Amino acid sequence: MRSINIAIDGHSSCGKSTLAKGLATELKYVYVDTGAMYRAVTLYMLENGVVSENEGFDEAELIDSLSEINISFNFNRTTGNSETFLNGTSVEHDIRGLRVARCVSQVSKVKHVRDKLVYFQQQLGKNKGVVMDGRDIGSKVLPEAELKLFVTASIEVRTARRYKELVEKGVMETVESVQDNLKKRDFEDSNRKESPLIQVPEAVVIDNSRLSKLETLTQVLDLANEKIDNH
Ligand code: C5P
Repeated sequence: MRSINIAIDGHSSCGKSTLAKGLATELKYVYVDTGAMYRAVTLYMLENGVVSENEGFDEAELIDSLSEINISFNFNRTTGNSETFLNGTSVEHDIRGLRVARCVSQVSKVKHVRDKLVYFQQQLGKNKGVVMDGRDIGSKVLPEAELKLFVTASIEVRTARRYKELVEKGVMETVESVQDNLKKRDFEDSNRKESPLIQVPEAVVIDNSRLSKLETLTQVLDLANEKIDNH
């Protein structure tokens, strides 16, 4: 049976990665978390003083520093998850905090950043059998993907999910600051010049505000299997 590519786009914290991971496991496909790549670039820039949380950044300096960055993924047998590596060091924990979340949408607007990461993502999708989630996967990275999904949920549900996730990771933040960050990122990601988050006409819309993780996965697995069978 020939493999397909599955592109998942949508708003921040609407369960895209949980869905993508579940699909990849069920279908024995490779999961590619493109948000982790933008987060890793942002972390590098913050740690090397190129980006500052309060003062922003100089675009030319940021573009110069891009060549110093190497991103890779490794499967961690203990956790059963794929981990993001920045220049050989696991940054899986550090990229998930609000410090990175507050700057990532600004860094992601830079064309050179997008060009570098989109090229890498397209290489990963070349041989099919990939489930990739992000903001521009169906529109820009994998426009030929056989199945495209646009996932969303209400802002209240997304805030509650993200807050719970952060608490479980020991990150102390208020519900208000979590919601504020989600709204800002949604706005910036949807209104930027370079490949903004859009819902492509062929995407199947999944609003999972009232669906459990399993219900969402089951619904999408049916769609994926139908595409695979007819491929
Ligand atoms: O998916 P996640 O929330 O981890 O993404 C973090 C940020 O990375 C997004 O808010 C967005 O600014 C950026 N991003 C992007 N394009 C992608 C994936 C993520 O611009 N394909």
